[in-house]
Amino acid sequence: MKLCSTVAAMRAACRAVRGQGKRLGFVPTMGALHEGHLSLVRAAKARCDAVAVSIFVNPTQFGPKEDLAKYPRPFERDHELLEQEGVELLFAPPVEEMYPAGAVTYVTVEGLSEKLCGRSRPGHFRGVTTVVAKLFHIIEPDAAFFGQKDAAQATIIRRMVRDLNLPVEIVVCPIVREPDGLAMSSRNAYLDAQQRKSALVLSRSLKEVQNLFDRGERKASRLIEAGKQVFAQEPSVRLDYFEIVDPDTLEAISEVHGPALVAVAGFVGNTRLIDNIVLQG
Ligand code: AMP
Repeated sequence: MKLCSTVAAMRAACRAVRGQGKRLGFVPTMGALHEGHLSLVRAAKARCDAVAVSIFVNPTQFGPKEDLAKYPRPFERDHELLEQEGVELLFAPPVEEMYPAGAVTYVTVEGLSEKLCGRSRPGHFRGVTTVVAKLFHIIEPDAAFFGQKDAAQATIIRRMVRDLNLPVEIVVCPIVREPDGLAMSSRNAYLDAQQRKSALVLSRSLKEVQNLFDRGERKASRLIEAGKQVFAQEPSVRLDYFEIVDPDTLEAISEVHGPALVAVAGFVGNTRLIDNIVLQG
């Protein structure tokens, strides 16, 4: 695996790979890799001839009071995991390389960026779309792989790619969960044993919504109410939002008669976790 820490080196390495006629797959990450990330790498390996991964804890997607400074950065371990997966190229730039002093240009997907996590994390999606657009320009991948775990992010990236005519296929891969249902996340490392148990309320609430839906309920307000009731049984977890939205527009829907994204976010202590399911209406 070739490790690049400058834009110029990564651009040259990616061009060399594509120059050999290889289809290049790309997996953007913030590191602290787990099976969720590795599932994206494996999907990329299966669909492409070479795979590039980025590890970059992107400051512009963190709010001023969020966990940028303490976000886990186990670089040696991540490097080893990616080597084991047979990744060809790893891009791990320092912040100054991605954001030269005085950088003031952003990419914003208007409207969508203020929905779901965008409402409670102002500027978050602007940071995500800006860094992903920059990474796409540096790496020029044929396909890029994202997790359904961050469902709104996937929707917003898809819209950015469409609106800006970026020549990259976006592939969204299923959520990888722990055996007890908790969606894997780098932030799960912040949880102590008690919080780890409490965190199960997210997946449990979604399961309750799925069960009610399977029994025939189609009214979003009733489905949301059922999910929120599950939350009420776990007072140590503070609900941020529980919404049922159209997966393409992220607009709230009142009746489920097509694919519907049920998205939840909550604070377990200071740790903000998210999860979702898609109902097939
Ligand atoms: P992050 O490092 O948190 O920015 O995530 C990098 C990519 O991995 C994003 O596309 C995430 O959606 C994806 N991802 C994170 N957790 C999971 C998971 N549990 N299952 C599938 N994909 C995931």
